[in-house]
Amino acid sequence: MKVLLRPAVLKAGDKINMRIILLGPPGAGKGTQAKTLAERLNLAHISTGDILRENASKGTQLGQQAKEYMNKGALVPDTLVSQMLTQRFSQPDIQSGFILDGYPRNINQAETLDDVLKQRNMGIDMVIYLDTSESVIIQRLSGRLVCSLCGRNFHIKNMPPEKEMTCDDCGGRLYQRTDDKEETIKKRLEVYKKESSGLVQHYQEKSKLFSVSADQEAPMVINKIIQLIDEYNDSHKK
Ligand code: ADP
Ligand code: ZN
Repeated sequence: MKVLLRPAVLKAGDKINMRIILLGPPGAGKGTQAKTLAERLNLAHISTGDILRENASKGTQLGQQAKEYMNKGALVPDTLVSQMLTQRFSQPDIQSGFILDGYPRNINQAETLDDVLKQRNMGIDMVIYLDTSESVIIQRLSGRLVCSLCGRNFHIKNMPPEKEMTCDDCGGRLYQRTDDKEETIKKRLEVYKKESSGLVQHYQEKSKLFSVSADQEAPMVINKIIQLIDEYNDSHKK
């Protein structure tokens, strides 16, 4: 018989004021997991990719500048993204905790983040690394569909919507991201290896890194993440 040593601490809708970074290559499932986590734990979801895409589709000045980099699979210059981040952090919802998805993407951005947080007397609690193999990444990205209204991700095979090209949650139209083409996917993976993979060691050295195998299906991964957060909270109770 399995003995539960203690009851699960986290339930859906629980408020836990935590600051979490999701790290991992494109296709690791950061967006999917961050969205679920934010809803389940009442945290603000900050996705630099989503903010940039929103700007691009609205045609703002930032969006117009960012678009050319995004379509090539390159990183948008740090100065643009950092400005955007600072702006996002001036909104009140981040006070009750947040999940960062897609930022930082290099050491320079990690340092900017430290500064932005320090100014607000905040720090990061956990950095969760979604460890994913390359074959899984390519398979996921080439079949990904995104809701044009709420941003939820689907997959042609792994996570198909109930109604063709329509979001289960909000009825929005699904589309394929312009950077999810094979050539651009390759480029994004190269950029990840060159720019972002060093962040894993960076946060390991700060003893903030927690790793989850993210090749499994989304519900398994989310359970593993919740378990990690739960254990973290349990051992950091004041
Ligand atoms: P993925 O991680 O799957 O590539 P994202 O939605 O996080 O998808 O990012 C899409 C694109 O947006 C990136 O390829 C990059 O051009 C740009 N971008 C997102 N976040 C950042 C960031 N922190 N710094 C620079 N560019 C970014
Ligand atoms: Zn939707």
